Amino acid sequence: MAQPTGQLDTVMHENRIFPPPAEFSRRARIKSMDEYQRLWDEAAADPAAFWATMAREELHWFQPFSTALAWNEPFAKWFVGGTTNASYNCLDKHVAEGRGDRIAFLWEGEPGDARTLTYAELLKQVCKFANVLKSLGVERGDVVSIYMPLTPELAIAMLACARIGAVHSVIFAGFSAEAIADRNNDAKAKIQITADAGYRRGQVLPLKNTVDEALAKSLTVEKCIVLDRVNEAIHMERGRDFWWHELMAQASEDCPAEPLDSENTLFILYTSGSTGKPKGIRHTTAGYNLFVKKTFEWVFDYRDEDVFWCTADCGWVTGHSYVVYGPLSAGATVVLYEGAPNYPHEGRFWEIVEKYKVTIFYTAPTAIRAFMKWGDEHAEKHDLSSLRLLGTVGEGINPEAWMWYHRVIGRERCPIVDTWWQTETGGIMMSPLPGATPTKPGSCTKPLPGVIPQIVDSQGGEVDVHHGGWLTIAHPWPGMLRGIWGDDERYKETYWSKVPGKYLAGDNARRDEDGYYWIMGRIDDVLNVSGHRLSTIEIESALVSHPHVAEAAAVGRPDELKGEAVAVFVTLRGARPSEALRSELVKHVRNQIGALAQPDDVRFTNALPKTRSGKIMRRLLKDIASGKETVGDTTTLEDYSVLARLRSEDE
Ligand code: ATP
Ligand code: MG
Repeated sequence: MAQPTGQLDTVMHENRIFPPPAEFSRRARIKSMDEYQRLWDEAAADPAAFWATMAREELHWFQPFSTALAWNEPFAKWFVGGTTNASYNCLDKHVAEGRGDRIAFLWEGEPGDARTLTYAELLKQVCKFANVLKSLGVERGDVVSIYMPLTPELAIAMLACARIGAVHSVIFAGFSAEAIADRNNDAKAKIQITADAGYRRGQVLPLKNTVDEALAKSLTVEKCIVLDRVNEAIHMERGRDFWWHELMAQASEDCPAEPLDSENTLFILYTSGSTGKPKGIRHTTAGYNLFVKKTFEWVFDYRDEDVFWCTADCGWVTGHSYVVYGPLSAGATVVLYEGAPNYPHEGRFWEIVEKYKVTIFYTAPTAIRAFMKWGDEHAEKHDLSSLRLLGTVGEGINPEAWMWYHRVIGRERCPIVDTWWQTETGGIMMSPLPGATPTKPGSCTKPLPGVIPQIVDSQGGEVDVHHGGWLTIAHPWPGMLRGIWGDDERYKETYWSKVPGKYLAGDNARRDEDGYYWIMGRIDDVLNVSGHRLSTIEIESALVSHPHVAEAAAVGRPDELKGEAVAVFVTLRGARPSEALRSELVKHVRNQIGALAQPDDVRFTNALPKTRSGKIMRRLLKDIASGKETVGDTTTLEDYSVLARLRSEDE
């Protein structure tokens, strides 16, 4: 039967369950579900008081705050009246506590060059670079645009901004000149930081050339600092462009962290745009810093002897929160890798895990699906025995990809944390706690303490167990976005207008009988088949459970009889496209989740269109499946040729 508006049907059956290994629990920060539940209940009873206690314990305050939360819906202020500094919390705090010799970054360049930076060295570099910024006229509140390869200098640039109260806007160094200019103009950036070039899959990306083109259209950018990464011959414009190393050579190491208001903007970050025009998500200092520190410690169960590797680039929120601000606030040792996972060979990641004895590994489902496609032998060649915990972020993980990760990478020893969160949420909102939560493949399990999710229908009422609906967050949290840069109306409209009083995440989810959450995909991606509203991920997961399917995307296309028909795009592993396989896949989905969700169209393709952060762009596939001539905004698409190929495959 059709559901009231906003609700979804579920067709997925996933019953496997993996309790945390006893040895892991014994040593963990949070050791049992009872302990988790107590903490969650305490937080839910009075979230503001819960976070206030944490904030006093976890952050350094130049001046203590007076009010935990000032909530003027939809505008939140956390830790009002206090002053702190994210760069201080990430660096000075550890050095002051005598831990300056601890390693902050273990950096590996794509060509195999490597560098190690201790906390004390990192602090020194950040101080110097903060002075460089000041010498170029950067003041509190100015926006600094960063377009750099994943080098320690990228993190140094971010932390230097944080130190003096400038606002960084990191743009992934794979975006076009047009995309940089759009973001620079929207943010009114004053300074650009870049590198001569970067390495990607053995090629040299001409970053400075791209920036030159972007700066011609970036009306507010006055100066540009250029890191010499590759030693490329580039154009340097007199009076505008400066070499990083020349400015640093003259800079003083003395630059105390400025006491900044809790609500001072720390950064803006444009979302990847898998759903439309990029928006500048604004995060502020104290609440964000606290949230990423605590969630890092809870979810990754971080210990002093750990080596943490989050494979995300700092161009995405994952890099902001779990490469830079979260781990460094916690005093962690972080691996940074500049290059691609398949260069110079498809085992590169596992080689790095072995080399640095990585203990915690955090990556995206898109990477995991690629590893599966490339074959188990790459991981099998390397000693992965240092690993004790695995994580995923960015998209839902199909249960079969989860099982592969568990078996081939985790060797059935490592818990997996499937972390649900968004650029907007600042940090992880739902995730297993690895020493406490029994995991179910494909579920992000439970909300973290202080996070209160509710699944509602379009009337705002909570839906029943096993019914899909809109995922909302019912109480403000410290890491939440404070707005969209320069566009309060869009902020209200996007997140706060459809369900009064609650943050609308834009994803669908359901809760099972154990109170576990299952993300069902984006609200805009729901399929409407014969009066049933189906989620993309359930159909895709059914496909990925077939041994020959590497990756799948399900979309709806208009159908006179059913409302919408189910079209799926599939990439294969270990098989070639054929009519026989096509009907086998249709049958497979029918067996797995029922006739209702059975695909009407199966299209084989070599690659799916993805955002530059690796997420499938279903919006574009929907246009292709419906035979639309022109497709929507494609500026964030990773590989334009994929679209062209999909179109020609269509003919
Ligand atoms: P845009 O908002 O511009 O379309 P985006 O949503 O891809 O871009 P992010 O903020 O990086 O940008 O991604 C957050 C989204 O990613 C979530 O809303 C959700 O759709 C998806 N996501 C992230 N983690 C998970 C997860 N563990 N399970 C399922 N989906 C996830
Ligand atoms: Mg989003």
